[in-house]
Amino acid sequence: MAELAIADPVTSLKGVGEKLAEKLERLGIRQIQDILFHLPLRYQDRTRVQPIGSLRSQQEALVEGIIQLSQIKFGRRRSLLCHISDGTGAIVLRLFHFSKSQQQQLVRGQRIRCFGEVRSGPSAMEMVHPEYQLLQADEPQLVEQALTAVYPTTEGLHQLSWRKLMQQALQLLNQQAMPDYLPDEVLDPRVAQFNLTRALQYVHLPPADSDVRQLVAREHPAQKRLAFEELLAQQLSMRQIRLRSQHHRAPAFSSDALVHQFMQQLPFPLTSAQQRVVEEIRQDVQQTIPMQRLLQGDVGSGKTVVAALAALMAVSSGYQAVMMAPTELLAEQHFRTFRNWLEPLGIQVGWCVGKQTASQRKQVVAAFAEGKVNIAIGTHALFQDDVSFHRLGLIIIDEQHRFGVHQRMALRDKGKAIDMLPHQLVMTATPIPRTLAMTAYADLNVSVINELPPGRQPVSTVVVADNRRQEVIQRIHVACQQKRQVYWVCTLIEESEYLQCQAAEDTAQQLQQALPDLRVALVHGRMKSADKEAVMQAFKQGAVDLLVATTVIEVGVDVPNASLMVIENAERLGLAQLHQLRGRVGRGSIQSHCVLMYHPPLSENGLARLACLRESNDGFVIAQRDLEIRGPGEVLGTRQTGLPQFRVANLLADQELLPAVTHAAETLMKDYPEKVSPLINRWFGNKLNFGQV
Ligand code: ADP
Ligand code: MG
Repeated sequence: MAELAIADPVTSLKGVGEKLAEKLERLGIRQIQDILFHLPLRYQDRTRVQPIGSLRSQQEALVEGIIQLSQIKFGRRRSLLCHISDGTGAIVLRLFHFSKSQQQQLVRGQRIRCFGEVRSGPSAMEMVHPEYQLLQADEPQLVEQALTAVYPTTEGLHQLSWRKLMQQALQLLNQQAMPDYLPDEVLDPRVAQFNLTRALQYVHLPPADSDVRQLVAREHPAQKRLAFEELLAQQLSMRQIRLRSQHHRAPAFSSDALVHQFMQQLPFPLTSAQQRVVEEIRQDVQQTIPMQRLLQGDVGSGKTVVAALAALMAVSSGYQAVMMAPTELLAEQHFRTFRNWLEPLGIQVGWCVGKQTASQRKQVVAAFAEGKVNIAIGTHALFQDDVSFHRLGLIIIDEQHRFGVHQRMALRDKGKAIDMLPHQLVMTATPIPRTLAMTAYADLNVSVINELPPGRQPVSTVVVADNRRQEVIQRIHVACQQKRQVYWVCTLIEESEYLQCQAAEDTAQQLQQALPDLRVALVHGRMKSADKEAVMQAFKQGAVDLLVATTVIEVGVDVPNASLMVIENAERLGLAQLHQLRGRVGRGSIQSHCVLMYHPPLSENGLARLACLRESNDGFVIAQRDLEIRGPGEVLGTRQTGLPQFRVANLLADQELLPAVTHAAETLMKDYPEKVSPLINRWFGNKLNFGQV
């Protein structure tokens, strides 16, 4: 294999044809080194033969013995049973599928070695379909020197294939160590005892006496070494994006005329937190380097008005601003809010969403391109190729956790028409712990609105079993009699939107029957956009008392008179999502309530999760709890944060490495800039290459 290199495509390995390469590609594996970064899930111990007498049920073990008796049993299913003994005890090998020749081989007196999971059978310990090997009578048998790795895999790719692939990759690694890009001084002492090559060799072939528990928990220093490097590569890539865009010029906004006018007609004064972040934004947009700022503020903290002020800074200076929202409902709402606020100032607000007809779309797209529209609001529909701007100066992305980094970049490229990069403001309500923010948003400056508008009262939350549904329905009645409005949220029952909408329809009917004097309406994802909008408008104007909805209303929707929310089967949702939903009430100064209904029985853990919402209204606290209970893979999937999927690193388990990673990233950029790109490429290849940033 002398002519092979670790960065060669997998197809240069023996036995890897196009089909296999395709399967590997699905796991992000293209080069030989990618195979090495595919880490085992767990390990099997085939390094010693266990005395049969010592076996426990559910243990995986290698055993060896002599077949004492071999028979076919005709029970519910025909099976071949071989009783094996090694002098310390006996175990039954059970095969449901077997060939004639197997039957002839597995006979009394035959020496045999098996590896498999032990379980208790009807009369004795059993192994069902273990891996087995027939042995010659007295010949000494070798055992494995290292633990056997078991890999996470995809359909049609067996463990045996992984072992063969890994064997070749490791052999190559033995011949040519991987270049180590990390100078000793950046390595945290917790990970410094392994270099990259040794760490890889260790995790794929751990010595027989390794601490398996530590390995399975991904706490071994060899794994930490790899996680450290991956997290470092990720941070470096984000910082590089940031640096590169700072080489571009951005329009400096010099005038504030409209901002002052707007402030005078705004019905409420800004909170001091809002004033502070507006000031931070103003400082940024007066520069000729593109702003890259994240605005973090809990649900209801008043981010929209800050966005409007930023947009006005652009418009005052003769530039356009664009604001993107993740759902049509939200885009529509922003469109209306902005129009109410800004049209009196003579500002043209336009919008662009997927449902527009071709001719409508043509018209708005032309208005953007000609500069007739000052502020454009829309959904993903803004990404399409036909959308361009006359003088785009500012991009605002609302609920940024719903978009990925890629989409953020794609929208930004739209501003290139003026040969500059627009400023960028991204807003999110998903507060994530500070350590994770360093990883998720390493390319952004962060502003935080850490204060709610005055007069807000925390939403009081109760957790009740759904057998108290009647009581809950009575509460709705009382709330509506007091001229308040109510949301009833139906959660996902199956992984099917269709069924979810169906359930919401049924619920709406039942509630209307139970509450005949209330005006009940329904909104869900499968309704026509125009219908959705009409319902939302009616709700907003107070023409609907009770709105039955699916989680389409999760983000952004703002109806301050709604003071009660009932969430059915709340146990199915993540805490962060529940917090977002709950944020639809408590947006005015009236005391609001949230009823989290669950379907009993609920585990202790499940109840503890819901209790956490009862006890806190603080998104940061809830995010941290959610992270602890569910782990970052779920909470912080790409959907939630735009974080990339890691191969080795686990953001929860490896959280404590992050400060050292940040420090290492700074040192590398300053003192070893030549190592930055190779390191990023090794871990992320082309995945994080967002084009000509
Ligand atoms: P979010 O941060 O969740 O996007 P919004 O921008 O939708 O919050 O604001 C929530 C509600 O609070 C809106 O009705 C908005 O008009 C109102 N609001 C925002 N800022 C203030 C303020 N300084 N004083 C009073 N009400 C405010
Ligand atoms: Mg919002």
